[in-house]
Amino acid sequence: MSLLQSALTRLEEAARVAGVSPETLLILQNPEREIGVHIPVRMDDGTLRKFRGFRVQWSSARGPYKGGIRYAPTVDLDEVQSLALWMTIKCAVADIPLGGGKGGVEVDPKKLSHAELERLTRGFARAIAPVIGPDRDIPAPDVGTSGETMRWIADEYGKIVGRPEPAVVTGKPLNAGGSAGREAATGQGGLYILQALQERLGKSPQETTIAVQGFGNVGYHFARLARAAGHRVIAVSDSRGGVAVNSGSLEPEALMEGKKATGELPMPPQGKRVTNAELLEISCDVLVPAGVENQITEENAGRIKARLVLELANGPTTPEADAILEKRGVTVVPDVLANSGGVIVSYFEWLQNREGRVWEEREVNERLRQTILAALKAMQKLKEEKKTSFRTAAYAVALTRLEEALRG
Ligand code: NAD
Repeated sequence: MSLLQSALTRLEEAARVAGVSPETLLILQNPEREIGVHIPVRMDDGTLRKFRGFRVQWSSARGPYKGGIRYAPTVDLDEVQSLALWMTIKCAVADIPLGGGKGGVEVDPKKLSHAELERLTRGFARAIAPVIGPDRDIPAPDVGTSGETMRWIADEYGKIVGRPEPAVVTGKPLNAGGSAGREAATGQGGLYILQALQERLGKSPQETTIAVQGFGNVGYHFARLARAAGHRVIAVSDSRGGVAVNSGSLEPEALMEGKKATGELPMPPQGKRVTNAELLEISCDVLVPAGVENQITEENAGRIKARLVLELANGPTTPEADAILEKRGVTVVPDVLANSGGVIVSYFEWLQNREGRVWEEREVNERLRQTILAALKAMQKLKEEKKTSFRTAAYAVALTRLEEALRG
């Protein structure tokens, strides 16, 4: 099943549970607009290469489109469409006045020089400039892109419209109109959810063991914050593999320092190396997929030992795996809620830019906590009422809100 097919399957199931009209479902089954672009880029060696890019605008029923831009060799229209649909659901679950979109460029950013990446990004910004804007569609970082990527897009867009327009993108560095707390927001939001669900585990944070797959922006900050809050982070991994400890905890900040120095996760004291497949099946209380999609599948779901799966990556669990985990009593907190901290603080960044204000990190985090916990509460209420999974409940909450917006 393609990623989009699995996202649509979940949408249809939730539409039945939520009782939304067939017309609402019909409207939400396709994007409002999708564009494909080819970006010519002058490489450092003087040759010209072309890269394929996409921007998919799924729904503006609740506000301007909002969604990240991904740079990866695997980017294709199916992936970008699925991510755009998930953003639509995510913004509605978080109850922020934004719609859903997503973008991507088929490129391995690690194989381009810094200057080539800048030229590619500026070229992509020019190509999508007619369809983005602070009231229209607001990109943000995703896998393979960063605050710097957003700064280049804002700068290029500002040149096109002839005025500074920082609110055209979020996830910018602080000195370019970014928000305090944005970089860590997805991990921070995930931790607020974990803390709210701690009771389910019947253990204190100090007794709770966590394994994190993906040690990039999201996975690193989550691991760092969870450790600071007292949890035991017993395994982390990146695309090259992972490290784990049998007792005590890993120290995420030290691991990141080591990774920055050598490009590889350093071996921790009394630690061992694990593969990504082993990490997923490790004995732990909480499994946090924070890398890429389709990691928990029909093949390995039966061997997952965690009691709670906190999906910080988008789409890490296939529908077949969902069914297996549910049968085994494993709670899965779905991506559309678990990782919504990023888009919630992106919304705060956009508000600050538009109002010419700067909020302190404490204020950002407190508002994030309130917003994400309100989303969790709405989802839990519907879950109890309809006796359904967290994921279906989240989609159903979103669909009900989207239907109200579509009715006008
Ligand atoms: P990133 O590029 O900073 O990090 C991705 C990490 O995953 C890297 O450590 C990489 O080595 C690792 N990885 C890649 N392939 C892997 C594999 N097969 N197995 C294990 N690890 C692998 O990206 P990010 O911004 O941290 O995003 C991670 C996930 O979170 C994505 O699914 C993204 O869509 C989602 N997400 C990100 C944000 C955000 O604010 N950045 C918000 C919501 C959701």
